Amino acid sequence: MPSILEQHLDLETLHEKPVVQKEKVQPKPQKPVQEIAEKWIAEFNEAIKTKNSEAIADLFLEDGSSVLDGLLIVGWWRDVLALSWDFHTYHSRNGIKQMIERNNTDEVGLSNFALDPAVPVALQNPGGSPEFGDCITAFFTFETNVGRGKGVFRLMPADNQGNEWKAYTLFTSLQELKGCEERKGRSRPKGVEHGEHGNRKIWFEDRTKMQNMEGWDPTVLVIGSGHSGLNIAARLGMLDMPTLVIDKNERVGDNWRKRYKTYVPRILGVDDYRLVLHDPVWYDHLAYIPFPPHWPIFTPKGILSLHPR
Ligand SMILES: Cc1cc2nc3c(=O)[nH]c(=O)nc-3n(C[C@H](O)[C@H](O)[C@H](O)COP(=O)(O)OP(=O)(O)OC[C@H]3O[C@@H](n4cnc5c(N)ncnc54)[C@H](O)[C@@H]3O)c2cc1C
Repeated sequence: MPSILEQHLDLETLHEKPVVQKEKVQPKPQKPVQEIAEKWIAEFNEAIKTKNSEAIADLFLEDGSSVLDGLLIVGWWRDVLALSWDFHTYHSRNGIKQMIERNNTDEVGLSNFALDPAVPVALQNPGGSPEFGDCITAFFTFETNVGRGKGVFRLMPADNQGNEWKAYTLFTSLQELKGCEERKGRSRPKGVEHGEHGNRKIWFEDRTKMQNMEGWDPTVLVIGSGHSGLNIAARLGMLDMPTLVIDKNERVGDNWRKRYKTYVPRILGVDDYRLVLHDPVWYDHLAYIPFPPHWPIFTPKGILSLHPR
Protein backbone atom coordinates (compact mmCIF):
# COMPACT_ATOMS: atom_id res chain seq x y z
CA MET A 1 0.00 0.00 0.00
CA PRO A 2 1.42 3.42 -0.90
CA SER A 3 2.45 5.61 2.01
CA ILE A 4 0.53 8.80 2.75
CA LEU A 5 3.36 10.79 1.18
CA GLU A 6 3.24 8.65 -1.96
CA GLN A 7 -0.53 9.05 -2.18
CA HIS A 8 -0.17 12.82 -2.11
CA LEU A 9 2.87 13.23 -4.31
CA ASP A 10 2.88 12.57 -8.01
CA LEU A 11 5.97 10.38 -7.70
CA GLU A 12 6.13 9.58 -11.39
CA THR A 13 6.63 13.27 -12.12
CA LEU A 14 9.19 13.54 -9.40
CA HIS A 15 11.18 10.53 -10.56
CA GLU A 16 11.54 11.87 -14.08
CA LYS A 17 14.48 13.87 -12.83
CA PRO A 18 17.09 12.69 -10.36
CA VAL A 19 17.06 14.53 -7.06
CA VAL A 20 19.67 17.25 -7.24
CA GLN A 21 22.22 16.76 -4.49
CA LYS A 22 23.24 20.16 -3.27
CA GLU A 23 24.95 21.58 -0.24
CA LYS A 24 23.66 20.43 3.10
CA VAL A 25 24.09 23.83 4.66
CA GLN A 26 21.30 26.17 3.64
CA PRO A 27 22.55 29.42 2.13
CA LYS A 28 21.62 32.71 3.74
CA PRO A 29 19.58 35.28 1.77
CA GLN A 30 21.90 37.58 -0.13
CA LYS A 31 19.44 40.49 0.05
CA PRO A 32 17.12 41.76 2.80
CA VAL A 33 14.22 39.32 3.21
CA GLN A 34 11.69 42.13 2.72
CA GLU A 35 13.17 42.88 -0.70
CA ILE A 36 13.14 39.19 -1.72
CA ALA A 37 9.50 38.79 -0.62
CA GLU A 38 8.43 42.01 -2.38
CA LYS A 39 10.05 40.87 -5.62
CA TRP A 40 8.38 37.46 -5.38
CA ILE A 41 4.87 38.84 -4.77
CA ALA A 42 5.29 41.49 -7.51
CA GLU A 43 6.26 38.80 -10.03
CA PHE A 44 3.43 36.59 -8.86
CA ASN A 45 0.92 39.44 -9.19
CA GLU A 46 2.17 40.27 -12.69
CA ALA A 47 1.99 36.62 -13.75
CA ILE A 48 -1.57 36.37 -12.40
CA LYS A 49 -2.52 39.60 -14.22
CA THR A 50 -1.10 38.46 -17.55
CA LYS A 51 -2.45 34.91 -17.02
CA ASN A 52 1.04 33.51 -17.51
CA SER A 53 0.70 30.08 -15.91
CA GLU A 54 4.26 29.12 -16.87
CA ALA A 55 5.63 32.10 -14.96
CA ILE A 56 3.43 31.31 -11.96
CA ALA A 57 4.67 27.72 -11.82
CA ASP A 58 8.25 28.97 -12.19
CA LEU A 59 7.90 30.93 -8.96
CA PHE A 60 7.66 27.62 -7.09
CA LEU A 61 10.60 25.34 -6.27
CA GLU A 62 11.55 23.03 -9.08
CA ASP A 63 10.06 19.57 -8.47
CA GLY A 64 12.46 17.40 -6.53
CA SER A 65 15.16 20.03 -6.28
CA SER A 66 16.23 21.42 -2.98
CA VAL A 67 19.23 22.48 -1.03
CA LEU A 68 18.16 19.80 1.44
CA ASP A 69 20.17 16.69 0.78
CA GLY A 70 17.95 13.71 -0.04
CA LEU A 71 14.61 15.41 0.66
CA LEU A 72 12.12 15.51 -2.20
CA ILE A 73 10.84 19.03 -2.14
CA VAL A 74 8.04 20.29 -4.38
CA GLY A 75 6.03 23.48 -4.31
CA TRP A 76 2.59 23.39 -2.66
CA TRP A 77 -0.44 25.67 -3.03
CA ARG A 78 -3.24 25.25 -0.52
CA ASP A 79 -6.43 27.17 -1.23
CA VAL A 80 -9.45 27.72 0.99
CA LEU A 81 -12.39 29.18 -0.96
CA ALA A 82 -10.48 31.80 -2.97
CA LEU A 83 -10.11 29.87 -6.24
CA SER A 84 -13.29 27.80 -5.94
CA TRP A 85 -16.06 27.18 -3.40
CA ASP A 86 -14.04 24.36 -1.91
CA PHE A 87 -10.76 23.47 -0.19
CA HIS A 88 -7.95 22.21 -2.41
CA THR A 89 -4.23 21.47 -2.23
CA TYR A 90 -2.07 21.43 -5.36
CA HIS A 91 1.58 20.42 -5.63
CA SER A 92 4.44 20.30 -8.12
CA ARG A 93 5.06 22.90 -10.78
CA ASN A 94 3.05 20.96 -13.30
CA GLY A 95 0.11 20.47 -10.92
CA ILE A 96 0.09 24.16 -10.02
CA LYS A 97 0.37 25.19 -13.68
CA GLN A 98 -2.59 23.05 -14.68
CA MET A 99 -4.64 24.28 -11.74
CA ILE A 100 -3.99 27.96 -12.37
CA GLU A 101 -4.82 27.57 -16.06
CA ARG A 102 -8.25 26.38 -14.95
CA ASN A 103 -8.78 28.92 -12.18
CA ASN A 104 -7.10 32.19 -13.17
CA THR A 105 -10.15 33.27 -15.14
CA ASP A 106 -11.96 36.60 -15.52
CA GLU A 107 -14.82 35.05 -13.60
CA VAL A 108 -12.65 34.34 -10.51
CA GLY A 109 -10.81 37.65 -10.91
CA LEU A 110 -7.66 37.06 -8.85
CA SER A 111 -5.91 40.40 -8.45
CA ASN A 112 -3.97 42.87 -6.29
CA PHE A 113 -1.57 40.50 -4.57
CA ALA A 114 0.55 42.63 -2.23
CA LEU A 115 2.49 42.08 1.00
CA ASP A 116 0.43 42.70 4.13
CA PRO A 117 2.10 45.70 5.80
CA ALA A 118 0.67 44.60 9.17
CA VAL A 119 2.93 41.54 9.37
CA PRO A 120 6.71 41.85 9.01
CA VAL A 121 8.48 39.52 6.58
CA ALA A 122 10.56 37.06 8.61
CA LEU A 123 13.31 34.51 8.11
CA GLN A 124 12.15 31.64 10.27
CA ASN A 125 11.94 27.91 10.59
CA PRO A 126 8.50 26.54 9.70
CA GLY A 127 7.06 24.73 12.66
CA GLY A 128 10.33 23.97 14.42
CA SER A 129 11.67 21.49 11.82
CA PRO A 130 15.45 22.07 11.70
CA GLU A 131 15.82 19.89 8.58
CA PHE A 132 13.91 22.49 6.56
CA GLY A 133 16.28 25.29 7.46
CA ASP A 134 14.90 28.80 7.50
CA CYS A 135 12.20 29.99 5.10
CA ILE A 136 11.35 33.56 4.20
CA THR A 137 7.77 33.86 5.48
CA ALA A 138 5.55 36.65 4.21
CA PHE A 139 1.85 37.42 4.57
CA PHE A 140 -0.15 39.06 1.79
CA THR A 141 -3.58 40.30 0.81
CA PHE A 142 -5.41 39.91 -2.49
CA GLU A 143 -8.84 40.19 -4.10
CA THR A 144 -11.18 38.14 -6.22
CA ASN A 145 -14.33 39.33 -7.97
CA VAL A 146 -16.45 38.29 -5.00
CA GLY A 147 -14.24 38.98 -2.01
CA ARG A 148 -11.01 39.83 -0.26
CA GLY A 149 -8.42 37.31 0.81
CA LYS A 150 -5.31 36.79 2.86
CA GLY A 151 -2.46 34.38 2.45
CA VAL A 152 1.05 33.44 3.38
CA PHE A 153 4.01 32.13 1.36
CA ARG A 154 7.24 30.48 2.40
CA LEU A 155 10.28 30.83 0.19
CA MET A 156 13.26 28.48 0.20
CA PRO A 157 16.60 29.00 -1.54
CA ALA A 158 16.56 27.73 -5.12
CA ASP A 159 20.33 27.93 -5.60
CA ASN A 160 23.40 27.28 -3.49
CA GLN A 161 24.24 30.94 -3.01
CA GLY A 162 20.95 32.25 -1.60
CA ASN A 163 20.41 34.60 -4.54
CA GLU A 164 17.22 33.03 -5.78
CA TRP A 165 14.27 32.17 -3.55
CA LYS A 166 11.17 30.27 -4.66
CA ALA A 167 7.95 29.21 -3.03
CA TYR A 168 7.88 26.00 -1.09
CA THR A 169 4.34 26.70 0.13
CA LEU A 170 1.65 29.22 -0.76
CA PHE A 171 -1.64 29.51 1.12
CA THR A 172 -4.60 31.55 -0.14
CA SER A 173 -7.90 31.98 1.70
CA LEU A 174 -11.01 34.06 1.15
CA GLN A 175 -11.68 36.19 4.24
CA GLU A 176 -14.84 38.14 3.37
CA LEU A 177 -17.38 38.72 0.63
CA LYS A 178 -17.59 42.16 -0.95
CA GLY A 179 -20.81 43.86 0.12
CA CYS A 180 -21.19 41.49 3.11
CA GLU A 181 -18.39 42.75 5.35
CA GLU A 182 -18.53 41.96 9.04
CA ARG A 183 -19.61 44.75 11.40
CA LYS A 184 -16.20 45.18 12.97
CA GLY A 185 -13.35 47.67 12.92
CA ARG A 186 -14.51 50.75 11.04
CA SER A 187 -17.93 49.13 10.44
CA ARG A 188 -18.62 48.40 14.11
CA PRO A 189 -22.00 49.57 15.53
CA LYS A 190 -22.01 53.10 16.91
CA GLY A 191 -23.71 52.14 20.19
CA VAL A 192 -25.44 55.51 20.67
CA GLU A 193 -27.74 57.88 18.78
CA HIS A 194 -26.43 61.38 19.40
CA GLY A 195 -28.85 64.35 19.25
CA GLU A 196 -32.58 64.70 20.01
CA HIS A 197 -34.57 61.49 19.49
CA GLY A 198 -38.06 60.74 20.82
CA ASN A 199 -37.56 57.00 21.15
CA ARG A 200 -33.90 56.95 21.81
CA LYS A 201 -32.61 53.46 22.60
CA ILE A 202 -29.23 52.53 23.89
CA TRP A 203 -27.28 49.65 22.40
CA PHE A 204 -27.96 47.49 25.45
CA GLU A 205 -31.77 47.76 24.97
CA ASP A 206 -31.51 46.74 21.35
CA ARG A 207 -29.30 43.85 22.35
CA THR A 208 -31.74 42.69 25.04
CA LYS A 209 -34.58 42.80 22.49
CA MET A 210 -32.51 40.75 20.15
CA GLN A 211 -31.63 38.23 22.87
CA ASN A 212 -35.32 37.88 23.75
CA MET A 213 -36.12 37.39 20.05
CA GLU A 214 -38.55 40.31 20.07
CA GLY A 215 -39.63 41.11 16.53
CA TRP A 216 -37.43 38.64 14.68
CA ASP A 217 -37.35 35.00 13.65
CA PRO A 218 -34.18 33.06 12.99
CA THR A 219 -33.05 32.48 9.43
CA VAL A 220 -30.40 30.04 10.62
CA LEU A 221 -30.76 27.47 13.39
CA VAL A 222 -27.48 26.23 14.85
CA ILE A 223 -27.71 22.99 16.83
CA GLY A 224 -25.03 22.83 19.51
CA SER A 225 -23.28 25.64 21.34
CA GLY A 226 -19.79 24.14 21.43
CA HIS A 227 -16.81 25.89 19.79
CA SER A 228 -18.15 25.18 16.30
CA GLY A 229 -21.71 26.36 16.98
CA LEU A 230 -20.63 29.50 18.82
CA ASN A 231 -18.12 30.45 16.13
CA ILE A 232 -20.52 30.01 13.22
CA ALA A 233 -23.29 31.88 15.08
CA ALA A 234 -20.94 34.73 15.96
CA ARG A 235 -19.79 35.06 12.36
CA LEU A 236 -23.37 34.99 11.04
CA GLY A 237 -24.40 37.55 13.65
CA MET A 238 -21.69 39.90 12.44
CA LEU A 239 -23.19 39.58 8.96
CA ASP A 240 -26.63 40.55 10.36
CA MET A 241 -27.95 37.07 9.69
CA PRO A 242 -30.67 36.28 12.29
CA THR A 243 -29.28 33.18 13.99
CA LEU A 244 -30.51 31.09 16.90
CA VAL A 245 -28.28 28.60 18.74
CA ILE A 246 -29.87 25.77 20.69
CA ASP A 247 -28.26 23.13 22.87
CA LYS A 248 -29.50 20.19 24.88
CA ASN A 249 -27.35 21.46 27.75
CA GLU A 250 -28.66 24.13 30.07
CA ARG A 251 -25.76 26.59 29.78
CA VAL A 252 -23.16 27.57 27.24
CA GLY A 253 -19.91 25.89 28.30
CA ASP A 254 -21.61 22.84 29.81
CA ASN A 255 -20.18 20.73 27.00
CA TRP A 256 -16.76 21.31 28.61
CA ARG A 257 -17.93 21.51 32.22
CA LYS A 258 -19.56 18.08 31.93
CA ARG A 259 -16.78 16.52 29.86
CA TYR A 260 -15.27 13.59 31.74
CA LYS A 261 -13.88 14.57 35.10
CA THR A 262 -10.39 13.85 36.25
CA TYR A 263 -10.22 15.85 39.44
CA VAL A 264 -12.75 17.97 41.28
CA PRO A 265 -11.22 20.56 43.62
CA ARG A 266 -14.22 22.94 43.32
CA ILE A 267 -11.90 25.94 43.42
CA LEU A 268 -13.86 29.14 42.73
CA GLY A 269 -16.79 26.98 41.72
CA VAL A 270 -14.93 25.66 38.71
CA ASP A 271 -15.26 21.92 38.45
CA ASP A 272 -12.09 20.64 36.94
CA TYR A 273 -8.61 22.03 36.42
CA ARG A 274 -6.64 18.93 35.59
CA LEU A 275 -8.09 18.10 32.17
CA VAL A 276 -6.70 20.58 29.66
CA LEU A 277 -7.06 21.27 25.93
CA HIS A 278 -4.65 19.32 23.75
CA ASP A 279 -3.63 22.30 21.62
CA PRO A 280 -1.85 25.40 22.90
CA VAL A 281 -3.94 28.53 23.40
CA TRP A 282 -3.19 30.23 20.07
CA TYR A 283 -5.01 27.46 18.16
CA ASP A 284 -8.14 27.57 20.32
CA HIS A 285 -9.40 31.17 20.17
CA LEU A 286 -13.10 31.86 19.73
CA ALA A 287 -14.06 34.36 17.02
CA TYR A 288 -14.04 37.98 18.29
CA ILE A 289 -13.24 37.01 21.90
CA PRO A 290 -9.67 35.72 21.88
CA PHE A 291 -8.19 34.46 25.11
CA PRO A 292 -6.30 37.19 26.97
CA PRO A 293 -2.51 37.33 26.58
CA HIS A 294 -1.92 36.08 30.13
CA TRP A 295 -4.06 32.96 29.51
CA PRO A 296 -2.30 29.63 30.27
CA ILE A 297 -0.84 27.86 27.26
CA PHE A 298 -2.99 24.79 27.88
CA THR A 299 -6.49 25.81 28.95
CA PRO A 300 -8.07 23.78 31.77
CA LYS A 301 -11.50 22.49 30.78
CA GLY A 302 -13.21 24.15 33.78
CA ILE A 303 -11.87 27.56 32.72
CA LEU A 304 -12.85 26.93 29.11
CA SER A 305 -16.40 26.18 30.22
CA LEU A 306 -16.66 29.69 31.71
CA HIS A 307 -14.93 31.71 28.98
CA PRO A 308 -17.72 31.71 26.34
CA ARG A 309 -20.33 32.74 28.92
C1 LIG B 1 -9.57 16.54 26.53
C2 LIG B 1 -9.88 17.14 25.20
C3 LIG B 1 -9.04 18.12 24.72
C4 LIG B 1 -9.27 18.69 23.46
N1 LIG B 1 -8.43 19.67 23.02
C5 LIG B 1 -8.67 20.26 21.83
C6 LIG B 1 -7.86 21.33 21.37
O1 LIG B 1 -6.95 21.74 22.05
N2 LIG B 1 -8.14 21.90 20.16
C7 LIG B 1 -9.18 21.45 19.40
O2 LIG B 1 -9.39 21.98 18.31
N3 LIG B 1 -9.97 20.44 19.81
C8 LIG B 1 -9.76 19.84 21.00
N4 LIG B 1 -10.55 18.83 21.42
C9 LIG B 1 -11.61 18.39 20.58
C10 LIG B 1 -12.79 19.27 20.95
O3 LIG B 1 -13.69 18.49 21.67
C11 LIG B 1 -13.38 19.86 19.74
O4 LIG B 1 -12.43 20.54 18.91
C12 LIG B 1 -14.46 20.88 20.05
O5 LIG B 1 -15.07 20.72 21.28
C13 LIG B 1 -15.45 20.67 18.97
O6 LIG B 1 -16.46 21.59 19.18
P1 LIG B 1 -17.87 21.28 18.62
O7 LIG B 1 -18.69 22.52 18.86
O8 LIG B 1 -17.80 20.78 17.23
O9 LIG B 1 -18.37 20.05 19.48
P2 LIG B 1 -18.74 19.97 21.07
O10 LIG B 1 -17.80 20.78 21.90
O11 LIG B 1 -18.84 18.52 21.34
O12 LIG B 1 -20.14 20.66 21.12
C14 LIG B 1 -21.30 20.06 20.61
C15 LIG B 1 -22.49 20.68 21.31
O13 LIG B 1 -23.67 20.24 20.65
C16 LIG B 1 -24.63 19.85 21.62
N5 LIG B 1 -25.50 18.85 21.01
C17 LIG B 1 -25.12 17.70 20.46
N6 LIG B 1 -26.19 17.06 19.96
C18 LIG B 1 -27.26 17.85 20.19
C19 LIG B 1 -28.64 17.75 19.90
N7 LIG B 1 -29.14 16.68 19.25
N8 LIG B 1 -29.45 18.74 20.27
C20 LIG B 1 -28.99 19.83 20.93
N9 LIG B 1 -27.68 19.98 21.22
C21 LIG B 1 -26.82 19.00 20.85
C22 LIG B 1 -23.80 19.34 22.78
O14 LIG B 1 -24.50 19.41 24.01
C23 LIG B 1 -22.60 20.29 22.77
O15 LIG B 1 -22.80 21.44 23.56
C24 LIG B 1 -10.35 18.23 22.67
C25 LIG B 1 -11.21 17.23 23.17
C26 LIG B 1 -10.96 16.68 24.42
C27 LIG B 1 -11.89 15.63 24.95
